[in-house]
Order: sequence, then C-alpha cells, then structure tokens
Amino acid sequence: MNNRILVTGGAGYIGSHTTIALLQAGYDVVIADNFSNSERWIPDRISTLSGHVVQCHELDLRNHAATLECLHQVRPDGVIHFGALKSVGESIANPLHYYQNNVTGTLNLLDAMQHIGCNNLVFSSSATVYGYPDRCPISEDAALHAINPYGRTKLMMEQAIEDIGTSSPGFHAAVLRYFNPAGAHDSGQLGELPRGAPNNLVPFVAQVAAGLRPEVKVFGGDYKTPDGTGIRDYIHVMDLAQAHVHALEYLRDRKQGLVVNLGTGSGYSVIEIIDAFSRASGRQIAYQITDRRPGDADACYADPSLAEKLLGWRASRGLDTICADAWRWQIHLQQN
Ligand code: NAD
Repeated sequence: MNNRILVTGGAGYIGSHTTIALLQAGYDVVIADNFSNSERWIPDRISTLSGHVVQCHELDLRNHAATLECLHQVRPDGVIHFGALKSVGESIANPLHYYQNNVTGTLNLLDAMQHIGCNNLVFSSSATVYGYPDRCPISEDAALHAINPYGRTKLMMEQAIEDIGTSSPGFHAAVLRYFNPAGAHDSGQLGELPRGAPNNLVPFVAQVAAGLRPEVKVFGGDYKTPDGTGIRDYIHVMDLAQAHVHALEYLRDRKQGLVVNLGTGSGYSVIEIIDAFSRASGRQIAYQITDRRPGDADACYADPSLAEKLLGWRASRGLDTICADAWRWQIHLQQN
C-alpha cells in the first residue's frame, strides 16, 4: 500500500483528529464528507493544525455514481471509513434513515473500492455491537447482539466486510470497535461539535460546566457499580486517531485483516467523569439522577490486549487529559 488515503467522514469528530495524525505520519489524505454532521471549515482547520494541506471532496456516500466518480478521481491506496450517522436515539426514531445512510453508504463505498481495485479498508465499528456485554472487560470474542438500529447497522457492515474478505482474498479490512471516544486536540482548536443537545457524556458535562445547561442528567443511580452510576471506557480521541495509523501499517505490512477493540481497559462511572471534569474546569457541575435509559448496561469496558498485541498500540492519555482537552475546546467554542 502506498501513501494516499481517502477518509470518509473526515470532517467529523474522530475523522478530523485521525486526518491530523495521518498527515503528521506522512500520508497524503483526501477527505470525503457530505457535512451532514460537520462544518465546511474543518478541513482548513485540519490543514492549519497539521501543517499539511488536506484535500476535500463533498460527497454523499448514498450516491453510488458520485462515490464511484470520487474513488476514480482520488485513486486511494486505502480507505478509512468514518462516514456514518451515530446517534442511538435517532436510529430508533428513524431506522430507515440509518439503514440507508450507514448500510447503503458503506455498500456503495465497498463497490467503488472494488471497481478501482482498492483493497485496504479501516472501518469504524463500535462497542455497541456487543449489546449488553455478557462479561467485562469485553474481548473481541464476546457474543455479538446489537440492541438498536444503529448497532445493527454496524453489525451488518462488519458482516458485509467479512464476506467480501472471504470472497476476495486480496481485500483486507481492519475493523476497529471503539469504546467511548472523548476529549479534543490539545491545541484546543478542534474537538467534538455536537448539534443540539450532545449525545455523549463528556461534551454534555462540558456544556454544564460552561453554564450553557443547568445540570447533567444522570440516567440511573442504581446500577451494579460502586456508586450506582453506569461505567464506561473513555478513550482520548487522539489515542484513537493514532490507532488508525497503526491499523494502516498493519494492513500494509501483514496483508491481512483484523478485528480489535479500541479502549483503555479502565472504566469510569458517570459521577467519576463529573468529578474529573469539575477538577479540570475548576467549576461546580450540578447533576440530577433520573431514570435509567432503556438499553444501558451497568458497565462496559474493553479488554484492549489484542490491539496492543497486533497493532503495538495502547492508549496513553488518561481521564484528566481527556477532561482538560475537552474543556479547552469548550472555551474555544464559546470565544469563537
Ligand atoms: P461524526 O458525526 O462527528 O462524523 C461522521 C462524519 O461522517 C460527519 O462529518 C458526517 O458529515 C459524515 N457523514 C455521515 N454520513 C455521510 C454520508 N452518507 N456521506 C458522506 N459523509 C457522511 O461522528 P464521529 O463521532 O466522528 O464518528 C465517526 C465514526 O465512528 C462513525 O462511523 C461512528 O458510527 C463511529 N463511532 C463513533 C463513536 C462515538 O461515540 N463518537 C463510537 C463508536 C463508533
């Protein structure tokens, strides 16, 4: 594999941070995004922060002809595929939209890759494919049973990718199951850009710390955890970004695929996150414990040992760095 990488969804949260890591590792990166959940200024910000120019194609992966045209023009050596919708609640309210966007979009991309003979794919999957985990820490051989439409789109895409790998021996995919990405670029100039109320905990807590929301709603205080609130595995977005660089190297050097968890292996409760964010921001953060949300497990954290063994990668940033970087980004958002 050579140097040219197409990053679908590269203007989004994880895609933009990964693009910076790729550019800094010497890759020639082209972003393809329809900006349905990101802003058009992000590619310029990526170029400024990385010191390298990134090209960008406006592309909706649901459009088969346009996807084919884009891949013919770019001729990537590998593709990292982030371009998808990611809200569990939205997927329950509008499943068809999720299946069309995530599944059809991925099938169009896979088809276009076959057309141009591009055989290297890094795919954004999610710990959501484990549903209610039967044990923690979760290893890759745990049972897969997604419990909402978003999770099912991820499982379907994993299966399609596996089937293509079986039928086309030259095709290799790194399927990366993310736990809870959080934090921001350490410049404070790039981070998660939630539209409306954030779905993820850390940006929600950041908005409460900033005075934009009155309190954090903590869904459930009676889970089987030490303080009763749900435990998750929060991984810094720049650690996650770096794992993608390692995954590309793995595909290039080993010429085989893999499926790995990307998490830290440590779980933190909602209350621990609120406390850590309060320390990082120096602000009091009000919270209220409310009813559980259907579908939430007591605890969900990764066994990250396979990623360490195969990719030589492990997360290096802890919870305090996640909160400090997310807070710097929140302040930047309010000042600009
Ligand atoms: P994001 O919404 O910030 O980024 C996704 C990007 O894809 C956006 O820029 C959006 O405009 C683009 N996109 C969506 N549909 C598209 C389409 N049809 N054509 C072209 N572009 C399209 O999300 P993120 O947090 O960066 O997530 C990236 C990937 O990681 C997604 O596949 C998501 O499912 C997966 N993931 C995210 C999390 C998380 O908590 N953030 C956890 C596990 C997995």
